[in-house]
Amino acid sequence: MKETYSELNEAQQIIYTPSMIGRAFPDFEFGDISGIYRVGTKCVVLRNDGFEWSYPAEDIKKAYRNFIGREVSFFDYLGPDYRGPIPWAHKSNTFVLLKGLHYSSKDSYQKPEAQMQRLWIDSFNNLKTIQELTAVIENSNDDDSDEAILPDTKEALGHVMTPNHHCSCQAFQKQLKNLDAFKEEFSEDYQPTCKHLVWYKLFREFQTKRTELIDNLPGGEKNNVAVWFYTPMTNGSTSPYGTFQIWWTRDGLYSKDINSWKKYKSLTQYDAWKYLFKMIDTGFIPYEGSLYPKIKQLHEKSIT
Ligand SMILES: [Zn+2]
Repeated sequence: MKETYSELNEAQQIIYTPSMIGRAFPDFEFGDISGIYRVGTKCVVLRNDGFEWSYPAEDIKKAYRNFIGREVSFFDYLGPDYRGPIPWAHKSNTFVLLKGLHYSSKDSYQKPEAQMQRLWIDSFNNLKTIQELTAVIENSNDDDSDEAILPDTKEALGHVMTPNHHCSCQAFQKQLKNLDAFKEEFSEDYQPTCKHLVWYKLFREFQTKRTELIDNLPGGEKNNVAVWFYTPMTNGSTSPYGTFQIWWTRDGLYSKDINSWKKYKSLTQYDAWKYLFKMIDTGFIPYEGSLYPKIKQLHEKSIT
């Protein structure tokens, strides 16, 4: 008996893409695909040569969940001057999460989107409806191109989100729009997610732990400190790595003895979360370095 080849519904079209099948099965070949179908528990890929290949749908669903809720670098969602999520005054528990446009490369602060972030950074609360706010942040005001709010920009400036609950990004909105079909594909309790909600959760956890550390240290014992600096990757370089550099001392942030500062091994942006938490776990209070001129100078001297 021949099994039914179902055309993909809207949720399945989002899940069973060639790139997602490739994430689940690294030897998957991307070319010459004439169709993708769901057949029973399988996802079937028809090739132009008439052959068909089938893959367990569960594995691709798992790849989709892992991808959509992936953990991205600490620097992927910080605004200018390492600004964290900005509370929006007109709705409780609603934040503007700015894309890390200033940290993707050494020159990326010149991008029109980065300039726009700097222009808007203190003005988001002038926008009084969530529609206006989202249009500016997502840069999605293309219904009326004559009144484009953000000339010369293509990318979103960031996203508007409610922790654990909602995000204005495309990935989240696609799941929300097709929620019934997603529930059918996964389970009744399926909840949309995205990397922004995941990032925010980590960021809050970091802030909470840092505050707890400071609060629990007796007055005189705040001398274990670690100061971090970030240098984005150089444009045109083939290396996707920036440098995340930690300096530490047991003599306090304002130690008179500059020699008490020790340089830790060089890390990259992909190590940042791990080491931010590690600093706290080992009892060192983390600080962002640009605010401390003496140690900043020491750091800059060490890299030139
Ligand atoms: Zn999102």
